[in-house]
Amino acid sequence: MKVTFLGTGTSQGIPVIGSNHPVCLSKDFRDKRLRVSILVEWKDYTYVIDCGPDFRYQMLRAKCEKINGILFTHEHSDHVLGLDDIRPFYFKQGDISIYAHKRVLKSLHKRFDYVFATENKYPGAPTVIENIIKNKPFKLNNMEVIPIKGLHDELQVFGFRFNDFAYLTDMKTVKKKEVEKLKGVKVLVVNALRMKEHRSHFNLEEALQFINKVNPDMAYLTHISHLLGFHEEVEKMLPKNVFLAYDGLQIIV
Ligand SMILES: [Zn+2]
Repeated sequence: MKVTFLGTGTSQGIPVIGSNHPVCLSKDFRDKRLRVSILVEWKDYTYVIDCGPDFRYQMLRAKCEKINGILFTHEHSDHVLGLDDIRPFYFKQGDISIYAHKRVLKSLHKRFDYVFATENKYPGAPTVIENIIKNKPFKLNNMEVIPIKGLHDELQVFGFRFNDFAYLTDMKTVKKKEVEKLKGVKVLVVNALRMKEHRSHFNLEEALQFINKVNPDMAYLTHISHLLGFHEEVEKMLPKNVFLAYDGLQIIV
């Protein structure tokens, strides 16, 4: 399985518009972070997790020519706002499958009413096939996907496990029963916003504690704010099996 980090930044991305923070001014390409998303590929299948406001550029940058579907972790803007840009895929492939909690689908109906319109639908609007994710395993083609439920402040969020790989973002609290589902994972991706605590995200310390609990061979941090610091400096402080993800990074699991 191949995983491509399409974006590794927090909701505003890095650089933040108008910011003179040194990390926002950094010349290191690893300090430039689009909104968080990954591409997961195996055999001929290609799935995207989340579809934020940078989706169009991310698809161009990754030279992605087709997708089998989109999985949503939750309905916040930095994870859903790119849905309109599935149009090139829709024109080429037909209706696009999306997978999300039913509350998230409801929110998409509100934000993108024209996508779900059943009467007088605008001809240029894309059409999606809705698939409800419950907190139990489901299949994507031949792959079993295990949802991992967490809380983002008070909001329920799904992470996903694909065999030896798991991707969790926007987590602040994960119950023991859900952590159990991650046992034996070889590569874990988890959010680490910044050094200081935050009400809805793991800070660096909480992310490292969580990684210790799961005990994967390797872990990558994502959903990073400019306040975490320079990529190069932060990575030096991490345990030797923990890395900061960066946009464009590819890993084979
Ligand atoms: Zn987010």
